[in-house]
Amino acid sequence: MAWFTRKKPPTEAGGEGERHVRTEGLWLKCESCSQIVWRKTLEENLQVCPQCGFHFRIDAAARLQQLFDGGQFEIHEPGMASTDPLNFVDAKPYKERLAAMVKQGLRDAVISASGPLDGRPVNICALELKFIGGSMGTVMGEKITRAVERSIERRHPLIIVSASGGARMQEGAVSLMQLVKISQALMRLDEAQVPYISVLTDPTTGGVTASFAMLGDLNIAEPGALIGFAGPRVIEQTIRQKLPEGFQRSEFLLKHGFLDAVVKRPDLKSYISASLKFFCD
Ligand SMILES: [Zn+2]
Repeated sequence: MAWFTRKKPPTEAGGEGERHVRTEGLWLKCESCSQIVWRKTLEENLQVCPQCGFHFRIDAAARLQQLFDGGQFEIHEPGMASTDPLNFVDAKPYKERLAAMVKQGLRDAVISASGPLDGRPVNICALELKFIGGSMGTVMGEKITRAVERSIERRHPLIIVSASGGARMQEGAVSLMQLVKISQALMRLDEAQVPYISVLTDPTTGGVTASFAMLGDLNIAEPGALIGFAGPRVIEQTIRQKLPEGFQRSEFLLKHGFLDAVVKRPDLKSYISASLKFFCD
């Protein structure tokens, strides 16, 4: 990596150590192809590797900025937070985990927002994987249900971008109830004939896959995303068979009829926009 160290640091620098630290922040090694990518190029390419097309995970706020026109949107129920209904204590009390997340500026694993997408008003819920694995508890259930109700009332299409490990075990059965609650709300959305597009990103598993993520009028995924209910190890142990290559990845699911399309992130907004035009106009 001689070219790397020969490069002059952006500002006056001290010793070799400092130069190393500065370059570390500017460049990134792709998890898939191991090529060194300039962080700015990656940002311009919506966190997709320009060499191999690997989709880096992005957070909910970045997702909303990419989808809404000019990155402008109105956030709903920003302060809604879990009350820890079971008083759950594991290795670390649930209340402490929630408090640690609040310190990072996160209140729950979903951001619900409204705004224009190619000029069309829509509601988008984006799941936040950083918040306890994007898990679904009472707050996610309530926020998504309200987004669905908002979509029915205003007749604005709904888009949910999933990234989740499934139901939140710290909320037990109360968490599982959210699968039913959201699914029922989506049925009412269907009856009202307002379109719902589900976008599945890496990873979408468990109770989220088993409910709203697979209930879209269109279910589309990003390339290479892990999508499933149980993990591959559990399945192999249960059916006592070796699983095929690429099992539970977007491309495999598309081939076997579980998805309607696999869409690259840079094309996602225009794909959703064209689909909504087809459904609504
Ligand atoms: Zn790559």
